[in-house]
Amino acid sequence: MANSIPYDIVIAGAGIVGLAHAYEAARRGLSVAVVEKDSRCVGASIRNFGFITISGQAQGDTWRRARYSRDIWNSIAPDAGIEVVHRGSWIACQRPEAIEVARAFLQSEMGVGCKLYQKPDFPQLLAEHPDANSLLLEDILGVLHSPLELRVESRTAIEKLAHWLEERWNVQFFWNTEVLGIRKPGVQTSSGPIRADRVLLCCGGSLSGIAKTALADYDLKLCTLQMLRVRPAPGFRLPGSVMTDNSLARYSGWAELPEAEKLKACIKSEMPEYLEAGIHLIAVQSADGSLIVGDSHVYSDSETVFSSAEVDHLILNLARSVLDIGQAEIVERWAGTYPVWQGGDALIHRLSPRECIAVVTSGTGASTAFGLARDTFDIWR
Ligand SMILES: Cc1cc2nc3c(=O)[nH]c(=O)nc-3n(C[C@H](O)[C@H](O)[C@H](O)COP(=O)(O)OP(=O)(O)OC[C@H]3O[C@@H](n4cnc5c(N)ncnc54)[C@H](O)[C@@H]3O)c2cc1C
Repeated sequence: MANSIPYDIVIAGAGIVGLAHAYEAARRGLSVAVVEKDSRCVGASIRNFGFITISGQAQGDTWRRARYSRDIWNSIAPDAGIEVVHRGSWIACQRPEAIEVARAFLQSEMGVGCKLYQKPDFPQLLAEHPDANSLLLEDILGVLHSPLELRVESRTAIEKLAHWLEERWNVQFFWNTEVLGIRKPGVQTSSGPIRADRVLLCCGGSLSGIAKTALADYDLKLCTLQMLRVRPAPGFRLPGSVMTDNSLARYSGWAELPEAEKLKACIKSEMPEYLEAGIHLIAVQSADGSLIVGDSHVYSDSETVFSSAEVDHLILNLARSVLDIGQAEIVERWAGTYPVWQGGDALIHRLSPRECIAVVTSGTGASTAFGLARDTFDIWR
């Protein structure tokens, strides 16, 4: 397998973080090889909602990276044959305390372009966005709308992105090949050496193997999430991605506003079982009309193997409290993991002048990977 002319860079991992870095490297004129241990990406990047979010992201680097990444998704999606399935997010505010958070958010820099519809505004909401009638508006006090988000179908989009990088940017992929170690110049893989001037590890939640030594200085845990796909009645259409009060109390961009303290206290006393399992609602829709609904968050040193039926039940109940989905049948269940780190939503760590590791350490990789990749190469010139 040894290549006679070394690549400028070899990247381990074909999840969204590895692919975004491959894109950024190729754009900067580098020759790129991506090495993936599986026959295709089966990690977090295809298990997520495909929800490319800006609103709710933590102020600072994460929000900045999300805005940049959204623009990149927008610009490459048509060329890569990736459908943007829907746009915008809708937060169904069920409590007065949630309305307070939404109002405070609108006053902040991050709320620019967003809009709060309260009960008296619902006729206007329906006139402007007829699909909003899939929300149970009679049970909701207000709706915070952000037009900034995109949603792609990750389980096909990641594969299309890899294909596009190969065709359009000449990125070379080595599937079914595991990077076992760094072997100068380049890497040693399960199929032999690959020569490259620089090595970048984007191994996601695979914290053993080569990532273990590279991340020895970081105390990373794994977060496991439960996800469902449900089939609502024919014709049911979401206006975009839907969330609830629990999300306002969870995601830093809202939850760190001082006004969120009262909302967090309400949720703690009224929904302790949701808090304990880290459940909040994200509901998104696929082209066939089915919905992905989730999710829960369990933190541990390793993946949480056994899914809980009670958690599925709680997620669905939360969805039914704001969406007119009735007894929507569950058609798929799966779990996913991502690494988490107290130090921030992502890390870029230079192991040496020629070797680096980039990891998204939060549930934000679909939203931020392109921005992270730009930062990696700005730091690592
Ligand atoms: C259920 C769930 C829902 C989520 N929802 C969202 C969302 O809606 N929006 C959002 O922004 N984020 C979301 N996230 C987070 C997001 O999916 C992750 O942050 C992102 O996918 C991480 O990408 P990655 O490339 O680092 O990891 P992965 O997708 O896991 O890819 C890592 C790849 O590296 C490969 N690899 C590992 N070690 C080696 C090696 N030694 N050699 C070769 N290959 C190797 C693995 O096989 C894998 O394919 C969600 C995550 C989960 C689990």
